[in-house]
Amino acid sequence: MMTYDYSELVPYLLHWYDRNARILPWRENPKPYYVWVSEIMLQQTRVEAVKGYFDRFLTALPDIRALALADEELLLKLWEGLGYYNRVRNMQKAAKIVVEQYGGELPADYEALKKLPGIGSYTAGAIASIAFGLLEPSVDGNVLRVLKRVAASYDDITKDKVKKELEEDVRAVLPKDRPGDLNQSLMELGATVCLPNGKPLCEQCPVMHLCQAFRAGCEMELPVKPKKKERRIEERTVFVIHRVEDAAAMDMEIAATKVALHRRAGEGLLAGLWELPNTPGHLTVEEVQTLFPGVAVEPLPDAKHIFSHIEWRMKGYKLLLSDNQMLATEQEEKVLDNGEKKVEFFAPEQIKEQLSLPSAFERYKKYIA
Ligand code: SF4
Repeated sequence: MMTYDYSELVPYLLHWYDRNARILPWRENPKPYYVWVSEIMLQQTRVEAVKGYFDRFLTALPDIRALALADEELLLKLWEGLGYYNRVRNMQKAAKIVVEQYGGELPADYEALKKLPGIGSYTAGAIASIAFGLLEPSVDGNVLRVLKRVAASYDDITKDKVKKELEEDVRAVLPKDRPGDLNQSLMELGATVCLPNGKPLCEQCPVMHLCQAFRAGCEMELPVKPKKKERRIEERTVFVIHRVEDAAAMDMEIAATKVALHRRAGEGLLAGLWELPNTPGHLTVEEVQTLFPGVAVEPLPDAKHIFSHIEWRMKGYKLLLSDNQMLATEQEEKVLDNGEKKVEFFAPEQIKEQLSLPSAFERYKKYIA
């Protein structure tokens, strides 16, 4: 059902896009695989930050077959810092299916793309229109914002029905010769002009003369989305535990140590990832010393990390175990293994080069070296 006729926007958007599109590696060479990787990376991350990740990812995994066969540690390392690791795990699941069912090339078919793990209507539309020139919409948060403002619509954009209707509206106006460019012009306008936080740059907007929100002065009220639930705050104590491998090297500055990492459970927050051992609550130095008798304890700065629904407020401690000092007491094991014995010691270089630590621990990474 057509709810608003956006066809008038099309020539202005394409004209603007031709002059203002940012030069991005995946636009220079819009192979289906490249568009896919870039769109998945861009889902929670700014364009500038993605460029480096994109280049590194494609150097390591130049095609879908390489992605399908990649070792999980390499995959997570390439994604380290981007967060939402399920995105890259789903990409690998999808890559395996693509190798098995489509000979290693993404299908030029919107519905088939949408069936692949981690590919929703937005990403399927981006791949279909940009890489294959198909008349499919690609509606993300940027596009929703632009079009709901243009129409001065107070629909709740978090509702599936609203998004689906807008996808149909966009599909109806996609030009046969440039569907990918029209989709990208809307994304680009939302990312660079019709901004999400603060005032949009309406004076620079190619469709200002058609924008009903601008005319009514209500652009700051739109789009409508219900308030998110407040984040739950969790206090945690994080341990950077060095164990001296060479008994002669009992000095905090000497690098002959290995560092404890804990493998998280396979489900839930940061599923299956390595992390610095940590425990709920904020422990004092005295409490840590009681927990690890005879171990040198050095307090580290506090840190904070925001996940989508939870906020961690962290206290940190660096511990130095001697080579014969094992994580022996029941208490230690309880804290470090959560009863599952998943702590292992790694050389700092191995952690840096091969393992991926979630950004939640960014503040403490420098104490691993
Ligand atoms: Fe957004 Fe302003 Fe352009 Fe309307 S005129 S689409 S509110 S930037």
